[in-house]
Amino acid sequence: MPLLEVEDLAYSYNGIVAVRGVSFTVEQGEVVALLGANGAGKSTTVKMIAGALRPQSGHIRFDGEALEGRPSHVVVRRGITLVPEGRLVFPQMTVLENLQMGCIIQPSAQAEAALVRAWARFPRLAERRQQLAGALSGGEQQMLALARGLMSEPRLLILDEPSLGLAPQRVQELFQMIATVATTGVSILMVEQNVHQSLKIAQRGYVLEKGRTVKGGTGEELLADDFIRRAFLGR
Ligand code: ATP
Repeated sequence: MPLLEVEDLAYSYNGIVAVRGVSFTVEQGEVVALLGANGAGKSTTVKMIAGALRPQSGHIRFDGEALEGRPSHVVVRRGITLVPEGRLVFPQMTVLENLQMGCIIQPSAQAEAALVRAWARFPRLAERRQQLAGALSGGEQQMLALARGLMSEPRLLILDEPSLGLAPQRVQELFQMIATVATTGVSILMVEQNVHQSLKIAQRGYVLEKGRTVKGGTGEELLADDFIRRAFLGR
């Protein structure tokens, strides 16, 4: 049974169709990339999974249980966390305070354990724990957003365009970090414009076009696919 199963989702904003037939799965421990041009419906899809938008039709099953239409706080408790596009760290709070914001629903002992894990996973953040998040570099802010997403100890972490706005070298570091997180048993679904790099670390990927999934395959298959090469890789 897949960890996450999305079937035929649909969503319209005031009658304007954004998603009209999105289906895919994420298996336990996998990194899955969700690709597609601007406006293809990727963000709308992950917002539905995270409970920020209510699907107008279709199904979302997590660990075999129906999830569609559940509010975000229920979804987080079931084990799914979304790191939204644009990082959205609190610039006037310290690194430590930002991380604490990621686990306000946890009992304090669990929050302490999550913090210890965060410092071990991200030593650069540990060194900067008392710095204001707004003073960090873009790459460090994305690292902080990732670390904050992990504070609730999700089984599935959803990342919406994590590499957006990062320098090429930082992008590589970030993907390396994401791959490392996945080796610790956290499944990852990421929306990415950076098709080449994301498919290199993803076990599988899906392509969305005009609100539908039009293609799916392993990272290797998609990297070698003519349509993907023409549409996204400029080859
Ligand atoms: P991007 O990479 O640009 O974020 P995307 O693939 O994530 O693209 P969505 O953001 O899901 O796509 O948008 C899908 C469609 O829905 C687009 O046509 C977009 O203009 C529209 N849309 C998204 N958000 C809203 C909104 N809040 N109100 C109205 N239309 C919206």
